[in-house]
Amino acid sequence: MAEQTLTDKIVALCKRRGFVYPSSEIYGGLANSYDYGPMGANLLRNIRNLWWKEFVEKRPDMVGLDSSIILHPMVWKASGHVDSFSDAMIDCKECKTRTRADHLIEDYFESKKEPIKVEGKTEDQMDQIVQENKIPCPACKKFNWTKVRKFNLLFETSIGIVPESESKAYLRGETAQGIFVSFKNIMDSTRVKLPFGVGQIGKSFRNEITKGNFVFRTLEFEQAEIEYFFDPEKTEWEPLFENWKNSMWEFVTGKLGVKGENLRWRAHDDEERSFYSKRTEDMEYKFPWGFKELWGLAYRTDYDLTQHENFSGVDLKVVDSSDGRKFLPHVIEPAVGITRMFFMTLLDSYREEGEGEEMRIYLALKPDLAPYRVAVFPLVSNKVELVEKADQVFKDLSQIYSVGWDDRGNIGKRYRAQDEIGTPYCVTVDYQTLEDGTVTVRDRDSMKQERVALEELQSYIAR
Ligand code: ATP
Repeated sequence: MAEQTLTDKIVALCKRRGFVYPSSEIYGGLANSYDYGPMGANLLRNIRNLWWKEFVEKRPDMVGLDSSIILHPMVWKASGHVDSFSDAMIDCKECKTRTRADHLIEDYFESKKEPIKVEGKTEDQMDQIVQENKIPCPACKKFNWTKVRKFNLLFETSIGIVPESESKAYLRGETAQGIFVSFKNIMDSTRVKLPFGVGQIGKSFRNEITKGNFVFRTLEFEQAEIEYFFDPEKTEWEPLFENWKNSMWEFVTGKLGVKGENLRWRAHDDEERSFYSKRTEDMEYKFPWGFKELWGLAYRTDYDLTQHENFSGVDLKVVDSSDGRKFLPHVIEPAVGITRMFFMTLLDSYREEGEGEEMRIYLALKPDLAPYRVAVFPLVSNKVELVEKADQVFKDLSQIYSVGWDDRGNIGKRYRAQDEIGTPYCVTVDYQTLEDGTVTVRDRDSMKQERVALEELQSYIAR
């Protein structure tokens, strides 16, 4: 499979089968915005639920949170987002294309097979690299750039009818800050004790202007973030960091079923890492255009709580009950995009078998992820007994699973449609069902068909 076209195939499949549509398409679309269709909504929810189950519900040392999208504007001042949450942009004076300077440089060196990282470099340093290497505009191929300039990524909005300067607010650029500002309330209102973590899933917003790569980078996206708080005098951060790395790896390979060979860890060097972080590593997935960040893991020390204490004037310290010592907990932060995981999962599970007209396309999704765990078909739609029986099967299975229904066209077509959305099993109710209470169950991956008694159907599907 030619690598670059895999993205095109996924984009086409997503549109064709109701996973992802260009947003506001009847108005010509909106750059870097997408809508998740019926199958996409199911897949997203399954990924989100698995994450929540694994990292919040199954751990006694974790609790959940659902904070506001619009927080007090001072939150973003304290966090550093207002002053430095920006991308370095550069404009082509010839064709007016605006692009991220780091991407321009990295893509250029990637194409020469000499990959470099420019995160952490100043605007001047980036200007210098562009000039020295005479990097051309990727759109018009000319070399006539403006200087590199910073643009803030926070989305501004305004609240109510108070005078303009006072009403300015921001849509959150990450979910993590909501955790820090609720830290004291969580400590005061629950039975947690250090070390413990707070997990949160929700929409974040960034004024991203770089186009392309489908839902990899969008204006609004869903994040799943954890702040894991600990006492730096009682808990060693290095083993904790390693534990998180293992849990993240296990989630992506074990729960999402992604191949380990398509994943790697990449540690940030001193230049790239934020000044307050003692260690940052990214889990990267091999996207068709190269290894890119999927999930970041950062030891952020007590930077955020210190900032919020300073800006709010509220004491956020905790007390060690054994010796009365007051301190601000440190944090390790695993931060991932649910929508980026969604894209990775589709890329990793895409399969083609055979060629030409005969080609079979299917998504080898883990059953827990598939938009429908099972689909039910009455053999024909104009035989009342068959439809009624199939409806009963649908009702029974849907007590437990998300179940698809299809009574249109021939069975082969229905299989093809379910294959492309990754449904592990298709159940056909036919004339024999009315006689002996068995149905045909067809397996997505092997395409094998078996007769299964209705009483055994649930346990068969649960395998
Ligand atoms: P990148 O370098 O790709 O812009 P980042 O380092 O700014 O990402 P973080 O702020 O660490 O990202 O956010 C945590 C996670 O949120 C990322 O690992 C990624 O999975 C996801 N993410 C960040 N920005 C976007 C976006 N614009 N669209 C979709 N997912 C995103």
